[in-house]
Amino acid sequence: MGLRDKVKSFFVTTETNNFPYVSNKDEGKEVLLGKVEEKIIAPQQTVRKGKRDELEVPLTTNELKWATRFKNKECPKCQYIFEQIKGDKRCPECKSKIVVRVHYQTKEECLLTEAEVEEFNQLKESHSNIKWCLRECKKYDVPVSDFLNAWKVDSKEETAFEVMWKYVSNLRPQYIEKGMLGSYRNTVLTQAESYDRRRMEEEAYKAYLNVGFWDTNGPTNTQTADGENKFECQNAPQPRQTLKKIKEYQDKNDLSFEQIEADYLLVADKDVYKNQLPLPVEQSWLYFLREYKKYLTELKINEQKAIRNQLV
Ligand SMILES: [Zn+2]
Repeated sequence: MGLRDKVKSFFVTTETNNFPYVSNKDEGKEVLLGKVEEKIIAPQQTVRKGKRDELEVPLTTNELKWATRFKNKECPKCQYIFEQIKGDKRCPECKSKIVVRVHYQTKEECLLTEAEVEEFNQLKESHSNIKWCLRECKKYDVPVSDFLNAWKVDSKEETAFEVMWKYVSNLRPQYIEKGMLGSYRNTVLTQAESYDRRRMEEEAYKAYLNVGFWDTNGPTNTQTADGENKFECQNAPQPRQTLKKIKEYQDKNDLSFEQIEADYLLVADKDVYKNQLPLPVEQSWLYFLREYKKYLTELKINEQKAIRNQLV
């Protein structure tokens, strides 16, 4: 039985790719069953594809220029007019290389100099991060208009992260109050991902450890209503996505297991809601470490398999 199936046997789940949501099938909402008296919106796993494109990021002057150049078939360096442009080519006049890219937002073709490609890539990443923030807001049922109004103040990438987190962090005490620990856990993951996207590596690593702490706990609440499935902490499965990020950080910074342990204990100890969880911090570390080592072994086995396949 796979890890996800193990989790499913404890929780009633809907078709989710995420982990470990607790779902109420009748309403299609994730809640801890038997616990929630009042309705509070729990995070959705995904945002429907058709609804993803509501965000229009204001274009920079350069971006507008890039599209115009393509339309005019004009060399960005010497303004030589091409007869036709389909892909990357060299200008016959000034010999500089020109690059054709499809714009990530307008889908228009753009004509760039080689030097402009980096700026293009940065804007593309920034655009994708702002969209991610919008999607996270939708997951937590924050109205899109609220997000857009607050973000449009200066339309910067960093503001998008701040606005998103302001809304999500406001929900956290409510989730705890309602015993929606699965939803709370998801906000910790959102935090980790947002650090990760901003390349704040140490913060991301610590937030992923924090997710690990919640996942060793189920997460569930020992004080939930009678008859509710209690999570067996002994199983304490960890999603590979979290462990992968921790492994990357460990490799990059050459961390010993002792160092990870120290970080883990510090992070878990600082978690303001640690007392809501069934496992004491030190015990949770042991479960986490066991799962982490299991994951590292899996990685090794897969590597060996891949090498063997190459040889065959
Ligand atoms: Zn030219």
